[in-house]
Amino acid sequence: MRTTSVAAPAKLNLHLEITGLDGSGYHTLETVFQTLDWADTVHVALSDQPGIRLSCAAPGVPEDERNLAHQAASAYHAARSWPNGLDLRIDKVLPAGGGLGGGSSNAAAVLRALTQLDPEPLSPAVLATIALQLGADVPFFLLGGCAHATGRGEQLTPLEDPQAEPVTVLVPKLHCSTPAVFAALSDEERGPRPARGAVAWAEALDDIPSCLFNRLQAAAARAYPELETVFAACRATGAPWLLSGSGACCFALGHHPAPDGLCAVHTHFRSRADLDRV
Ligand code: ATP
Repeated sequence: MRTTSVAAPAKLNLHLEITGLDGSGYHTLETVFQTLDWADTVHVALSDQPGIRLSCAAPGVPEDERNLAHQAASAYHAARSWPNGLDLRIDKVLPAGGGLGGGSSNAAAVLRALTQLDPEPLSPAVLATIALQLGADVPFFLLGGCAHATGRGEQLTPLEDPQAEPVTVLVPKLHCSTPAVFAALSDEERGPRPARGAVAWAEALDDIPSCLFNRLQAAAARAYPELETVFAACRATGAPWLLSGSGACCFALGHHPAPDGLCAVHTHFRSRADLDRV
């Protein structure tokens, strides 16, 4: 096989709690990730021309080494010393800076695609190490479905996939920087506090609405006061909307009309078994 195409789905954080700081000063989290059926498509072709080329028509998405998908391909190549060059194309539909993990998902999709194309693929353990070097959310996107994560997001436990629950995602015209949102956390919000653990979350997810929580939501509004307008429009609908990750996208379970002035995408949970499906 010389070419393949895989999906790079968005994720939501159904629950996101800060548990403290690790030895290097990074915040540690406890989160429940869930992939969505809303996805970019990543095309990967082996080439006889050496080097890595990437194209992506979406405005604001870099096509050079700054792109996480490009970095993923370089890291795979470096670990495997592979003779082929690569042509990557990303058909982008996910918003950048939305807290949906689009860039991280693109990177993991490249790694998954390369293991399909490579006659001697890297082991899952080496892939996971490469993924974490690319970003804290990238290891999750090697797995997909529903998963519990601690540490920086890399200590993953797959959880049973819920039904294809319908979800509405709001896409404000606002980009949130993850470091800026973390910098706006109050001392109280930073913790430390104990993690509940994967076993407790596996049980709690029998009632998903009761799990919905995001410790970053207030900090995101302090870092980006424009988000207050979005939250106010959400509150006015009466539905329980929650910020995803560090924002700016918000989501609610079920299908809801968009609040005034906002764009809504109706989708549903995507299971682990379906991760690659284009
Ligand atoms: P996260 O939730 O991980 O913070 P996000 O959904 O908020 O991610 P991304 O889509 O990952 O945001 O984009 C954040 C920034 O990363 C963009 O502004 C863009 O410049 C850069 N970037 C690098 N690679 C990509 C990629 N493949 N797709 C989109 N943006 C990318």
